[in-house]
Amino acid sequence: MDRLLQIIGFGPAALGLFIAADRERQLPALLSLGIDVHERSPSVAQWDCLAYDIQANSPIQDFLQGIRPDGAFAECLRQSEVRDWLQDPSRILQLESISAFLRQLAQVVIAVCADHPATSVTFGRRVDAVQASDSGFICQGNWGRSFSRYLVLACGARGRPLQLTCADLRQTVERHWPTPLCSDGVLRGQADAQLRDAVGQGRQILVLGGSHSAFSTVEYLLRRLGSELAPRSLHVLCRKRPGLWQVPGTPASQLLPDDVVDTVSGEVNRFRGLRGKARQTLLEVESGRQPAVVLHVGEPDLEPWRLAAPLLINATGYEPRMPELRDSLGQPMALDTWQDNHRKHPLTHELTSNGQPIRGLFGTGLGFADQQGATIEVGVNFFHGRCANNILKAVL
Ligand SMILES: Cc1cc2nc3c(=O)[nH]c(=O)nc-3n(C[C@H](O)[C@H](O)[C@H](O)COP(=O)(O)OP(=O)(O)OC[C@H]3O[C@@H](n4cnc5c(N)ncnc54)[C@H](O)[C@@H]3O)c2cc1C
Repeated sequence: MDRLLQIIGFGPAALGLFIAADRERQLPALLSLGIDVHERSPSVAQWDCLAYDIQANSPIQDFLQGIRPDGAFAECLRQSEVRDWLQDPSRILQLESISAFLRQLAQVVIAVCADHPATSVTFGRRVDAVQASDSGFICQGNWGRSFSRYLVLACGARGRPLQLTCADLRQTVERHWPTPLCSDGVLRGQADAQLRDAVGQGRQILVLGGSHSAFSTVEYLLRRLGSELAPRSLHVLCRKRPGLWQVPGTPASQLLPDDVVDTVSGEVNRFRGLRGKARQTLLEVESGRQPAVVLHVGEPDLEPWRLAAPLLINATGYEPRMPELRDSLGQPMALDTWQDNHRKHPLTHELTSNGQPIRGLFGTGLGFADQQGATIEVGVNFFHGRCANNILKAVL
C-alpha cells in the first residue's frame, strides 16, 4: 500500500516526530496520513539505542521536556522513577536508564499505530536503497519495496573508521591494528573480556579521539578496570584538547578562543562540550589525579607504540549511516554536508543536493543537524527542538 510518509529508522530521532506531533495535538492527524516506519533491528525487545553504560551528555530534561504530560505518552511520565527525574530535571543519568525509558516510548508509538491501519512500524526491515521519483521515494530492501510522497531519514550514525590522512600512519595502523576496537562496542560492554585479557597481559590501551565518546570511554575503563590498570597504562591521543560544557552566564574572561556560547540557552559548548563524568575525567587527568591515564594532545603519532602493540580503541566519532540514494534518473545522489552532518535547506528544511532542496526528503537525528548561526545542533534536540516540528509542518 502506498503511504504518504516513510521513516527509515525507529531510533530516538524518529520517536521525536511522534512526540512532537503529540505535543502539537496532531498525533491522530499524523497517524491517519499513512506512515511506514522501517526499522532494521529485529524487535522492540532488542531496541538498544543509546544503551551505553555511561552518563548522558545532557540533562534528563532534554529527553522529558518535549513530552506532553497529558498526551499519548503520559503513562510513561507517571512512573515513580520518572516522576523523580521530573523533580530534578537537571540531573544527568546513565544512558542505559534513558534507553530503557525511550524503549517504553517506542512501545507507546507501536501501540497507538495499531489503531491506525494505514500506519505501521515494522522491525527486521532494513532499507538498503532509496530511489527518488518525480512523485516521491521508493524504499527497497530484501523485504520488498514501498513508496511514499515524503521520506524522513532517521538512520543515525555508526562509528567512523579511522581517518588517517598520513600514508605512513595509515600503513602502521593497517599492519599493526587491522581491527581496532570501536568505542561504541566498548561502551555497550561488549569488549570487557578482551580488555581484561589485554590488561592482564600487561598491554597498554590507546584511546584515539577527543570527543565525549573518547572521554566517556576513559571513564568507563577506569570504572571497570580501575585497580587492574597500572600507572601510565591508558593513553589518550587527541588532536586538540576538547572543549568543556559550561553553565550559561560563564564570564567571557573564562572562555577559551574555541568556546561557543549557545545563542538560545547561553550554555558554553552546548552541543560539543564534555559534560558530567567525561568532563570530570578530563579535568582529573589534566590535574594528575588519574595516574593510569596519559593525555597526548597533538597530531597522533602511533609509530612509537608499534612494538608495545597496545590495544587500540577508535573513539574518533561517528558518520551518518545511510542507505544508497539514487535520483529519479537512477544516478547516485550525493547529499550536501557541513562539518560531517547532512545539510538542510534553511527555509524548507529539506535535505539538499548541490545546494538545491530535494523535494519531500527530510533528515533528523544523528548525522542531520540543524544549523543555528555558527552552531551545529547535534544530539540533544530531537524531542523538543525545532527539527521534528519543521518536518511535521511540511507533511501535515
Ligand atoms: C557514546 C554516545 C553517547 C551519546 N550520548 C548522548 C546523550 O547523552 N544525549 C543525546 O541526546 N544523545 C547522545 N548521543 C547521540 C545519540 O546517539 C543520539 O542522540 C541518538 O541515539 C540518535 O538517535 P537517532 O535516532 O538519530 O540514531 P540511532 O540511535 O542510531 O537510531 C537509528 C535507528 O535507525 C535504524 N536504522 C539505521 N539504518 C537503517 C536502515 N537502513 N533501515 C532501517 N533501519 C535503520 C537503527 O537500527 C536505529 O534503530 C550519544 C551518542 C553516543 C555514540
